[in-house]
Amino acid sequence: MRRPMVAGNWKMHGTRASVAELIDGLCKQVFPAGVDVAVFPSMLHVSQVVEGLAEGVVVVGAQDCATESQQGALTGEVASSQLHDARCELVLVGHSERRILLGESDEVVVRKFAAAQSSGLVPVLCVGETLAQRQAGETLAVVASQVSAVIGALGVEVFDRAVIAYEPVWAIGTGLTASPEQAQEVHAAIRERLAKCDAVLARKVRILYGGSVKAVTATELFGMPDIDGGLVGGASLNADEFGAICRAAGS
Ligand code: PEP
Repeated sequence: MRRPMVAGNWKMHGTRASVAELIDGLCKQVFPAGVDVAVFPSMLHVSQVVEGLAEGVVVVGAQDCATESQQGALTGEVASSQLHDARCELVLVGHSERRILLGESDEVVVRKFAAAQSSGLVPVLCVGETLAQRQAGETLAVVASQVSAVIGALGVEVFDRAVIAYEPVWAIGTGLTASPEQAQEVHAAIRERLAKCDAVLARKVRILYGGSVKAVTATELFGMPDIDGGLVGGASLNADEFGAICRAAGS
């Protein structure tokens, strides 16, 4: 049985004041005992959130890390070891906004994944197809190749300490959500890709769905057999909505 996870990606949002309000709101939520809950604030706010949530069950992750695990001369970047030192437990790698808008290749994503694990962080590997790729019938091939890039470079066993998030690009921030059936098809294909290398491990890996998840859509999505929770963007900026999505994962 896989333990569900719900993670909030705050993206490039927040001021010290609005982050303090969000922390307050999260502290008032009742989170289900059987669900892992995480938030990913901007780098600037990681320490504020780690300190503000120290007493609770919500863990903190970063939205990105450098390809290097160790500190050094790399202006503007943050090493995975620095994130670990700041008490982050997870890090997103390969979010589509970084792949598409910032040109992050699979090779870069793999290096970040490896750096994260070498610093004791759990990477959350984001994969997903664009609308054009879906319309061309390429969804499963695209997603399989993004997962295969990591397997090919690092071996399937690295997924023992990682999470995968399937996030169709056309559903991110658009208000369009993949139907539970569409999402399940891709989640099952990702698990199948892992199973080709290690069937036991494949059954253990958590695969989250992301793309305009809201409390009203969460229960049905999370009820699908291969969907183990969600990566939530916009809706995670509202503590009550995020709390309700977490409770949907526990129901
Ligand atoms: C995301 O960016 O990871 C995401 C899922 O965003 P949204 O929920 O806003 O679509």
